[in-house]
Amino acid sequence: MSGSGEKHDKATIFELSRPGRIGYSLPPCDVPEADPASLIPASLLRKQPAELPEVYEVDVIRHYTELSRRNFGIDNGFYPLGSCTMKYNPKINEDAARMTGFAKIHPYQPEESIQGALEVLYRLQKDLQEITGMDQVTLQPAAGAHGEWTGLMMIRAYHESRGEKRTKVIVPDSAHGTNPASAAVAGFEAVTIPSDSRGLVDLDALRKEAGPDTAALMLTNPNTLGLFEEHIAEIADIVHQAGGLLYYDGANANAIMGITRPGDMGFDVVHLNLHKTMSTPHGGGGPGAGPVGVKEKLIPYLPTPIVARREDGGYFLDYNFPHSIGRVKSFYGNFGILLRAYVYILSYGGEGLRQVSENAVLNANYMLKKLAPYFDVPYDRKCKHEFVLSGNRQKKHGVRTLDMAKRLLDFGYHPPTIYFPLNVEECIMIEPTETESKETLDGFIEAMIQIAQEAEHDPERVKNAPYTTVVQRLDEALASRKPVLNCSCAP
Ligand SMILES: *Cc1c(COP(=O)(O)O)cnc(C)c1O
Repeated sequence: MSGSGEKHDKATIFELSRPGRIGYSLPPCDVPEADPASLIPASLLRKQPAELPEVYEVDVIRHYTELSRRNFGIDNGFYPLGSCTMKYNPKINEDAARMTGFAKIHPYQPEESIQGALEVLYRLQKDLQEITGMDQVTLQPAAGAHGEWTGLMMIRAYHESRGEKRTKVIVPDSAHGTNPASAAVAGFEAVTIPSDSRGLVDLDALRKEAGPDTAALMLTNPNTLGLFEEHIAEIADIVHQAGGLLYYDGANANAIMGITRPGDMGFDVVHLNLHKTMSTPHGGGGPGAGPVGVKEKLIPYLPTPIVARREDGGYFLDYNFPHSIGRVKSFYGNFGILLRAYVYILSYGGEGLRQVSENAVLNANYMLKKLAPYFDVPYDRKCKHEFVLSGNRQKKHGVRTLDMAKRLLDFGYHPPTIYFPLNVEECIMIEPTETESKETLDGFIEAMIQIAQEAEHDPERVKNAPYTTVVQRLDEALASRKPVLNCSCAP
């Protein structure tokens, strides 16, 4: 918490503190009390008691409940982030994940006693193969970026097995920041190519760059501008003819699920973010799941174990991949998240998944059309699940995209992603997702239009926002470099 701009309507927990008040009751100690000095080296022992507030139990509960309300989440309201958006988290999945048969098993249990869990994993592998058009899937990676790295390590092993030294991974400038980062961590040099005037991969630039040192092209399709690469077949040809492989960043698959598949577009590797597209709330650092699907030629390099089916119909963990890149995650990956994704897939079914994509695309286009008269639209085409606007028009009145994002907080909305992708000035990136009602979409559209009008007629109103939040404008650079992690209201 930062002290600046903080409103103190209520007494803080430190102000409520009175010496001797306690918030718990324990039975009397019935074993001899140990002297701390006999257990902990004297140099590590506190000289003074910690300055903790002394309060009643209800005060503690109210304190933490109050803090939790200051957080905005998908269960509080509309959250149209863009690119990393959390989609639908059906509550039934939480039920499934808490079933004792799943929640109480131990990773060291023998295979025979966890056949049900293995069957879930096996079936999920198969479903994800089908959804992505790949030949085999590993469920181990714990995040999108982890999946990218895993995929790139397999690509590296593949080229090395053919005696080829390929050092470069081509990444378009609209790519998610994790793409060049994963390429670097996997030991490649990331080479950026520009987008053309339509926001798509510049084919001439790609032709120039693709060559004997190309290991792979990493691509998001639709890209982070929400645009579908219509020349994907040609792009795949250029990369394959140069001897490189195609990596598909499928973090947000809700524009294409059930309609087209990376495997059919010519991609050799794909990761999905189950914690974005297929439920599991994310944010705050985890847990996640970023399964990776590969085409036949990369199967030998998959991380082990893969869940496989025995001839008698049972399931086992298959470690028999002599060329495997090795294990990338302890045990079987993040099982609870894999389970939620499986329930999600089963409850929608094939047709349902297609409907998800169609609704996501419809919602985004509806919103784009309604907002287009009020904002600059850098790429005026039909979008997929998300779209970008530019705040350049409002900037002429001295109002920046950041100001508009702050103003949205007063309307009770989480702002969209801003200033990303980098190739759009004053970028505002919006993803409404497939599950919001028309009324919710219209409410957000109205707020955006009002803010655009304020920017023109009353710019100060926008520049000083937000007005309704617990803290107003923070020095964001200072807050991230020198965060004040303890409560600054301590006595
Ligand atoms: C979220 C995202 C990633 C990274 O996924 P993490 O799970 O956060 O590591 C990669 N690419 C795109 C397009 C994304 O939206």
